[in-house]
Amino acid sequence: MSICITGAQLPDGTRKDLFVENGGFVSDGTAETTIDADGLIALPGLVDLHTHLREPGFEQSETVLTGSRAAAIGGFTAVFAMANTMPVQDTAGVVEQVQSLGDRHGYVTVRPIGAVTAGLAGEKLSEIGAMAQSRAQVRVFSDDGHCVSDALLMRRALEYVKTFGGVVAQHAQEPRLTLGAQMNEGALSSELGLAGWPAVAEESIIARDVLLAEHVDARLHVCHVSTAGSVEVIRWAKARGVKVTAEVTPHHLLLTEELARGYDSRFKVNPPLRRDEDVLALRAALADGTIDIVATDHAPHPVESKDCAWDEAANGMVGLESALSVVHAAVVASGQLDWSDVARVLSAKPAEIGLLHGYSTPFAVGSAANFTLYDPSATRTFATSDLRGKGLNSPYLGRELPGRVIATVHNGYATVLDGELVDAAAVAKEAHHG
Ligand SMILES: [Zn+2]
Repeated sequence: MSICITGAQLPDGTRKDLFVENGGFVSDGTAETTIDADGLIALPGLVDLHTHLREPGFEQSETVLTGSRAAAIGGFTAVFAMANTMPVQDTAGVVEQVQSLGDRHGYVTVRPIGAVTAGLAGEKLSEIGAMAQSRAQVRVFSDDGHCVSDALLMRRALEYVKTFGGVVAQHAQEPRLTLGAQMNEGALSSELGLAGWPAVAEESIIARDVLLAEHVDARLHVCHVSTAGSVEVIRWAKARGVKVTAEVTPHHLLLTEELARGYDSRFKVNPPLRRDEDVLALRAALADGTIDIVATDHAPHPVESKDCAWDEAANGMVGLESALSVVHAAVVASGQLDWSDVARVLSAKPAEIGLLHGYSTPFAVGSAANFTLYDPSATRTFATSDLRGKGLNSPYLGRELPGRVIATVHNGYATVLDGELVDAAAVAKEAHHG
């Protein structure tokens, strides 16, 4: 496939025509497909370091195919798939299976994350070396959904991944401090009569882990940072030179615990939505680089897991389809981030943390053509018709959101055109043609 994009604005504000041929950018040429990108912003293909694709094992929630389609319509060209599948992604066989499903469908690059502990049970390390050396070449390891709360296991995992330059991505949640937790702990949880999830349960694990990472000189990544106190701990660790990176989710940049008042379980998530002052601290930390990236924590659930009383409902929200618009609303509209910052926090930096190649020089002639075209002037009332994965558990339904993805190109072929997904058979064919 050859594509010409005319008049797109690059993240740095310059405008130019882009030519794509044989999977990469070329200096000029003729094209089978021309996209008029006047008024659109070209962003490098978005990379999500934290996606739950649910396959194998939970295909009623999501599959690699449906999650890949949700990613593409959101402007993503690569996702890192969390390990809490069934069987768990804790062996070479399972991670290779997930990666090849992603390759077969072709909407996005799927990079499996390996479990830190066998079966996510927190008792002994998984086959980290075998996953690293497998065809999937796993570099990111996480028990996400669970915290690696055992300090010795965490130390051993950090030491192990260091041998091949990998990273441990920690879901920071002290389990004993959060038994039965239903929402952020504070005045509102008391008022609503819901068990609280205290900020210190996150902050104390991050504090421990940055010290462990410093001690063994290994790379630590902190998943879904949600409190102002966590930001302070990470800022302190970075000032000391600790090799720590951190992510924030779009929902923690926009939404607060106040939404729990209606007991609408679409707003139930782990870690929970926090206070206004936490949201403001997270935005500032993303702007000043203390928090490195935005990651979705896309967590699809079947309707019956969410359509019930708050305390029985599953944690989690879908996020791939809305991420770019939510980042736009939360930190671009306010002027805290510009589009080159968005390109950094949603593409270059997550790729760098996950050791995903091909994202360091976007739009340069000779580099891989992974990008998305975004209309920043569009607005829409977000609806289930905007979702493309199986999960309908979006916290933004009925909310006005800015912007819209018009086209996404993965490895030189279109996965989204005119704001709609390209047919699955056509995408798979292009993926295997080139
Ligand atoms: Zn998590």
